Amino acid sequence: MSNRITHWIDGKFYAGPADRTGPVFNPATGEQTGTVDLASTDVVDVAVSVAVAAGKTWAQTSLTKRVAVLFEFRELLNARKDEVIALITAEHGKTLEDARGELSRGQEAVEFACGIPHLMKGSYSEGVSTGVDVYSIRQPLGVVGIISPFNFPAMVPMWFFPIAIATGNTVIVKPSEKDPSVVNYIAELWKEAGLPDGVFNVVHGDKESVDRLLTHPDVKAISFVGSTPIAKYIYETGTAHGKRVQALGGAKNHMVVLPDADLDLAADSAVNAGFGSAGERCMAISALVAVEPVADELIAKIAQRVSTLTLGAGVTNSDMGPLISAVHRDKVRGYIDAGVEAGATLVVDGRKPEISDEALSAGYFLGATLFDNVTPDMSIYQEEIFGPVLCVIRVATYEEALKLVNEHPYGNGTAIFTNDGGAARRFQHEVQVGMVGINVPIPVPMAYYSFGGWKASLFGDTHAHGAEGVHFFTRGKVVTSRWLDPSHGGLNLGFPTNG
Ligand code: NAD
Repeated sequence: MSNRITHWIDGKFYAGPADRTGPVFNPATGEQTGTVDLASTDVVDVAVSVAVAAGKTWAQTSLTKRVAVLFEFRELLNARKDEVIALITAEHGKTLEDARGELSRGQEAVEFACGIPHLMKGSYSEGVSTGVDVYSIRQPLGVVGIISPFNFPAMVPMWFFPIAIATGNTVIVKPSEKDPSVVNYIAELWKEAGLPDGVFNVVHGDKESVDRLLTHPDVKAISFVGSTPIAKYIYETGTAHGKRVQALGGAKNHMVVLPDADLDLAADSAVNAGFGSAGERCMAISALVAVEPVADELIAKIAQRVSTLTLGAGVTNSDMGPLISAVHRDKVRGYIDAGVEAGATLVVDGRKPEISDEALSAGYFLGATLFDNVTPDMSIYQEEIFGPVLCVIRVATYEEALKLVNEHPYGNGTAIFTNDGGAARRFQHEVQVGMVGINVPIPVPMAYYSFGGWKASLFGDTHAHGAEGVHFFTRGKVVTSRWLDPSHGGLNLGFPTNG
């Protein structure tokens, strides 16, 4: 095993030695498939100085030329889709179909960024005072850091870097050290697309590299996605060092099913959103709030569907792949044990999954797990599990369901299933969550809207991509200009007013 995964700085792979490295695994087999370099502070400093230098030219490059590179990148990404998807599956473990879905959602952000000439337009007011015009422009920030989680190794960085680059910034991506290869492949595509060296850089690493990005005076903004404790740390440390920070955190997404809902649609949706990608999605449904009398019938429908799910390597046509690591698999299993101990009813137990393929016996698999009679005090309800575990909470009324969602510390996504438009409309208005689905279980906004949660699911006030993304990666400037003929009169020491 000699697959060294190293940094991409100034348009090439880093040639220097690594003080520290980490292992990269194929989660389906448990085999180590590579070794990733973990950047020291010095390596991050090299990347930042390269990005600062590249920014001097890139920020001055015309919108037309910047967009030409983006269009070329979009074409290359499309042409090499299968290679990208294979890399995601090899190190993350998700199925190829799921990886394809991830990539296509990331591509939307690239396509959105291709429209940057329109998105960056300012405004102009002629004649605000005699001979005076006012106009606004938006300019890039400089070097921006993007720190991403393991669960969407391609899509999450792509929420940010197309817009950051299109708006004239230079970028340093710090991918998850668990599945680092796909961003390196993307870096090579950027080069092929004609992006000047040093505009897109990748440093691999852990806390040491992240801390350097957070404190380096030449890094002007940080976009982070990951778990809530780290998101909070990133926000506090980055802002204390004068940076603009958006830090997206964890989730516990509730799906409310009202008595009038189509229960087959609700059951399909609960299974898709609860167990897709083995529950390792920040928009996964993990708490199903059944408003009685639907619970018995709905749980039976879900359990029947779960019994048909197949488990296997992501490269095969199975429904669910493995979890990311043995440590994470054991943590999720620990939550299932805790749920049983706390008195929840275990309807489907995924702790001993059936895997027929001997080659996968050391893979990090866990089967779909369904709990009934979960109560709000249980850890399986309070905490983010981030695995294939769906908890059903029974309530008597809509009001009780709403109260549960609103009192939960997380506020990333939620969904309501009902055929009553009035109830849905009331829910969308009253619920304290950033992204809401109506008969849609995973309401991930299109790239021209913005993605982000409320409460402990996001630190900072700017969501990802869409208009807010353009705003995040630029700063505004307002110009007041006077072009008068030479007969404008003499001195006036008063504060400027309109007239
Ligand atoms: P994580 O918080 O462990 O890691 C995220 C990033 O932070 C990685 O790049 C990692 O190297 C770095 N990091 C980890 N510990 C650090 C530390 N102590 N100091 C500095 N940097 C550190 O998250 P993860 O396990 O990779 O991803 C799963 C989490 O991400 C889940 O909580 C999930 O809900 C969340 N997530 C949220 C969204 C969203 O949009 N809100 C999207 C995807 C994932």
